[in-house]
Amino acid sequence: EVEVPESHPRYHSLLTRHRIEAGVEKGITSQQGLIAQGRGEAFDYLLGEETIPSADRAARAAAAALLRADQPVLSVNGNVAALVPEEMVELAEVVDADLEVNLFNRTEARIERITDHLREHGATDVKGLTADARIPGIDHERAKVDADGIYSADVVVVPLEDGDRAEALGEMGKTEIVIDLNPLSRSPQVASIPIIDNVLRALPNITDHAEELAGASGDELARIVDEFDPDEALQDAERRIRTASESGG
Ligand code: ATP
Ligand code: MG
Repeated sequence: EVEVPESHPRYHSLLTRHRIEAGVEKGITSQQGLIAQGRGEAFDYLLGEETIPSADRAARAAAAALLRADQPVLSVNGNVAALVPEEMVELAEVVDADLEVNLFNRTEARIERITDHLREHGATDVKGLTADARIPGIDHERAKVDADGIYSADVVVVPLEDGDRAEALGEMGKTEIVIDLNPLSRSPQVASIPIIDNVLRALPNITDHAEELAGASGDELARIVDEFDPDEALQDAERRIRTASESGG
């Protein structure tokens, strides 16, 4: 990784950019991933580059939903693999979930490279290459998932998912946890639990909540999930972004 002094005021943002660049160089992140990164950065700037309280409540609800799940699956794309491979592996371990590589611009080669990359960061079993099931209502290439992975999961975490697929997964009746910095994007708007936060902060935060909730009863976990209001979380994030832009950032 490129050296950025930690004292630099834009340290995290620069580090993130370098990781995405390195991901593109390694062939795990797509060119479109660079554009997605730029959009995310703009929203993060307006959110103050911090986890707002409503996003923290969403992360807690996500942890509860994952702990309560029968078959939770964490979806990994090229940006997620470049930015937070270790954090994905760690969350999967803590909530006993499977990891599945799931790409918008799917190629076998890129899935293999991401799978290897996740293994280098401690993953043992990575799904996504079997691709023996299809998400209903999505065009062929983008519909491909593993039958024993995302297809049959009851709870899915889809960071930075595309709007169409997020909607189709929701229609399959899954509890869908979306991490996305843009509260106006369709993906968080169709999620059961939208987390409006940077994946760099949101993933370790879900893991912390899951560790803290490890001893909670099924009833308590259910209550935490039920009490979470997705519309309120989206509105709160949007309000903060609009206020920040009115006051000049
Ligand atoms: P749609 O409305 O169909 O969802 P979109 O405008 O969201 O389309 P995408 O290219 O899928 O188009 O956008 C990528 C999304 O990923 C953006 O909403 C961006 O804010 C988000 N994003 C990018 N980087 C991060 C990150 N590090 N953490 C969280 N979200 C991110
Ligand atoms: Mg989107």
